[in-house]
Amino acid sequence: MDKTGVERLLLVVPKKYRNDLKAFCHEGTSGHLGVTKTKDIFSRHFFWPQCYKEIEDYVRSCDRCQRVGKPFDKKKAPMKIVPVIQEVFSKINVEACGPLPVTPSGKRYLLTAMCLSSKYPDAVPVEDITSVTVVDALLQIFSRMGFPKVLQLDQGSSFTSALSTTFLEKFGIKVVHSSVYHPQSNPIERFHRTVKRVLKVLCLESGSDWEQAIYPALFALRTVTHENTGFTPAELVHGKNLRTPLTLLYEKWLDVEETEGEPVTEYVFSLINRMKRCQELAISKMEECQQKNKTWYDKRAVKREFRIGDLVLIFATFKSNKLSPHWTGPGTILRKLSETNYVVQLPGEKATSKVYHVNMLKPYYKRPEEVNYLISDLEGENDEEQMEIPCVDSNPNILDLEEMFQDYGESSNMNEDQIAQMKKLVWKYMKCFSNVPGKNRTRHS
Ligand SMILES: [Zn+2]
Repeated sequence: MDKTGVERLLLVVPKKYRNDLKAFCHEGTSGHLGVTKTKDIFSRHFFWPQCYKEIEDYVRSCDRCQRVGKPFDKKKAPMKIVPVIQEVFSKINVEACGPLPVTPSGKRYLLTAMCLSSKYPDAVPVEDITSVTVVDALLQIFSRMGFPKVLQLDQGSSFTSALSTTFLEKFGIKVVHSSVYHPQSNPIERFHRTVKRVLKVLCLESGSDWEQAIYPALFALRTVTHENTGFTPAELVHGKNLRTPLTLLYEKWLDVEETEGEPVTEYVFSLINRMKRCQELAISKMEECQQKNKTWYDKRAVKREFRIGDLVLIFATFKSNKLSPHWTGPGTILRKLSETNYVVQLPGEKATSKVYHVNMLKPYYKRPEEVNYLISDLEGENDEEQMEIPCVDSNPNILDLEEMFQDYGESSNMNEDQIAQMKKLVWKYMKCFSNVPGKNRTRHS
């Protein structure tokens, strides 16, 4: 039974497909979301004993996610209770995100919009944030969400400019500024963080064209349960979730028959009832959540401690590209210098180690060796095609040497000459630094 009281059949998945399915629920159109959201995607259709524990391990050991950083490991500040907003699309928050790396089509900013009651997200990539561009983008957003009663805006200059204000006034849209509320409690802030995080992971997978990555990201965010409402944004807007690749897989496996059509009037009647029920439940969940958040936000972050031999990722900032990963490594803890400082052996080097403050380190979870099986080995009643699952990337540990140099150069005391020398050396003995497991540390005399 799901939360609206509808009975749902869960498919118990045979062992051999479980790893692929875990990947499917976390990667690709699932957008590399966190543990809770991955479990949510999974639990709509599938089950097996210990599955949630396995998913936790799977997500925690995801190489890409660890490099990009956790979705919500930010410092918490006390927060005000924000009034609950009820009508879908009546209050929309819009914000500009960027400048981002320029895409092949010349886009540098992302204008994001979110409905404050359903958390339904939308986004428009734009070249700049001049008034004209912003107005055009707003019209695009309104074409999909309708014209809102209230528009909550970022403090950015282009939003407060005469043109956009006149434009909005003309339609009778009331403009409020997001700083009315505590920034931490601003849902778009959190949404932005999630979007940026999903973009980062997807860019790690598909190069730096974030414009292409935005649609799978939006899809993932629309179809996963939002912790504040207890429903997916799509459920609150359309009355049911959007079909995902996982739904297709589930139906194919279950051989679900297409349901008979029903008269439009009956359909509308049941849809209205279902949506009413969803929204009521969502509102009570939101109120409950705001109370809970208030207490959560006062708690302090947990202090970290490492032991010798632990694998860690090291925090690094890149000035050149805001979407590039922020964690490199993994390195190995060699020694504990003090309460807060550790000597870390860096990846790719035998002799070099550096001292890092504990705040720049986080544990790295290595995923147990993955076994790839041949799907064509199947026997029995199921034909091959029916069992086809997109294949999993079995080599998630690719380290970009150029990136490591850049990172290392910035964080170490080496000068440009020394870095150049190191590069030369590494390229010369490239074989020793291969990405293919089992070939590392070859001795060359
Ligand atoms: Zn991931």
